[in-house]
Order: sequence, then structure tokens, then C-alpha cells
Amino acid sequence: MADLNDTIRLNNVTVDDISSVVSKTVHVLRLDKIHPVISGNKWFKLKFHLEQSMNDNHHTVLTFGGAYSNHIVATAFACRSIGMDSIGIIRGEEPVEWSDTLKDAKRYGMQLHFVSRDEYDRKEDTGFIDQLKKQFGKFYLIPEGAYGELGAKGSEEIVKLTDTSIYTHIICSVGTGTMMAGIVNATHPLQKVIGISSMKGNQSLEAEIRSLLKNDKREFSLLHDHHFGGYAKYDKALIDFMNELYAQTKIPTDFVYSGKSFFALFSLLKENYFSAADKVLAIHCGGLQGNRSLPAGILEF
Ligand SMILES: *Cc1c(COP(=O)(O)O)cnc(C)c1O
Repeated sequence: MADLNDTIRLNNVTVDDISSVVSKTVHVLRLDKIHPVISGNKWFKLKFHLEQSMNDNHHTVLTFGGAYSNHIVATAFACRSIGMDSIGIIRGEEPVEWSDTLKDAKRYGMQLHFVSRDEYDRKEDTGFIDQLKKQFGKFYLIPEGAYGELGAKGSEEIVKLTDTSIYTHIICSVGTGTMMAGIVNATHPLQKVIGISSMKGNQSLEAEIRSLLKNDKREFSLLHDHHFGGYAKYDKALIDFMNELYAQTKIPTDFVYSGKSFFALFSLLKENYFSAADKVLAIHCGGLQGNRSLPAGILEF
């Protein structure tokens, strides 16, 4: 992995203590600081895929995502950094006005290919993958959101960025659950890992995470009630909370993942979910680029 780490320069993350704001030992692991483009957990989920693609002598990486996807833009940038071509299969017809995310991905050299939502739903079918191979030639495939074992393996490193053994609870946002699986795998069985799902009623999430665990009996908690209406949905309460959090802690959050997981954390604190001796680590998974899709001016940071 040494050459990858030399190619893509990462910033140090910090551990911010917000205990004075919440009257409880709560620290925040600022993965959002790790890289201006390959933000948050995306680096950790991609690194072993990139290494594998190089070891297998691939020249092209292909992956999937939506028009605002943190994963798409991170993959585009990471591939360019290591001299790999990249193709992004984007969910939905080509919009008249491209999102900033898509414009960035293209600027970083990703070839974007729009498919209908119906086609996109077939992205795991071998028939569809074969069709893509015919169209684009040989490629290394990274699943949507880098879901899977390699993504989880890379995410284990998140727990090693600081001494996380002192925390009784680790809380993080969840999309595919890949990062959470890695965190569960790398923590002590007595540490409680709490995931906040950004999706509405994603019933298969629990099993998908469990399938990535080294110890499939290990317990973890998934909270499904903080989606604010569904994936990438938001309301005034969420935006107000994000502005207030920033005013009090100088921590910026995104409205798709980290804003919702911090909102959930504050709700748990209010409900006295934690006991007096508990020490909580909140993982800030980045994703701030997604805020560019919000109406200008509603965020005060
Ligand atoms: C991608 C992403 C997630 C979801 O990660 P999974 O491993 O898919 O659960 C959470 N938060 C942020 C900010 C992300 O960009």
C-alpha cells in the first residue's frame, strides 16, 4: 500500500472534543478533514479496491452512483491520482444541468454514462455487467458505494487512526453499511457501535452488514428513524440543527449523512440513552461536497 499512500496525500484527521457543548464525553473523529475531494470514509472504502485493480493490471475502474454521489467524485479523483481510467455509471437520464458533483467527476477524468433507473437497478445482474463489458472493454468493477469485503477491510483502519479503545460507544452514519461493518470488525466486542441509516426503512441493511462481519454473532445497533423523509431528503429542522451545530462547535456537516447522524446523536443524548460513565466517539464521515445541491444561503457555513 506504500505507493498508494505516496500518490494520494492525506491530511491528518483530528479528534474534536465537544463535551462542553453536550455535557458528556463526546469526541468527534473528523474524517471530513482527510482529503478535500476523497472525503471522509470514501478513501478507506476505496483503497483496497484501487490496490487490487493495480495488482490485476487493470487500466480502467468502473463504478456506479447517483448524480450527487460522494463515492463517484472520490473514485474519479482517486483513479486520476493513480493513473487509472474511470467510468461512472450514473443513475437516471442525463440531466439538462449537471450537478457540481458530476462536473467535478468529469473534470477529474471520469467518463460518465447515464442509464435509466430501471437499468440501474439491474447493476448487479451478470447480463448487465456483460453488456457494460462489451461497451467499455475490460474493467475493474467497484460496487456502488464500494459495498463489500474490501471496503469493509479498508474501513477497519478508521478505528486505528486514534486510540479508540477508550470509547464505550462509536456512532456513525450508514448508507450501504460497509464502513460500519469495518468498524464493528475492528472494535472490541464490548464496545457498542451505533449506525444511523440515511435511508427510509432499509430492511435488508442489517443482513448486509452482518454478511460482512468476521464474527456474525457480534451485536450492533442500527437506528432507522433519522432519515428525515428518506435518502437525501431534508427539512428545516435538519438545516437549523446543522447551522446550530456549526455555530456551537465549528463542525460542518452534510445533509445526507453526517447532519442526520449528529442529529440522532443529540437526540440520544437528550433521551439519556448513555450512562454517566459512557464515552462516545462520533465519526464524521465527510460528504460535505453534497451540500452544493442545497439552495444557496440556507447553510451558514
Ligand atoms: C458514503 C458515506 C456514508 C455511507 O457509508 P457506507 O459505508 O456506504 O455506509 C456515510 N457518510 C458519508 C458522509 C458518506 O459519504
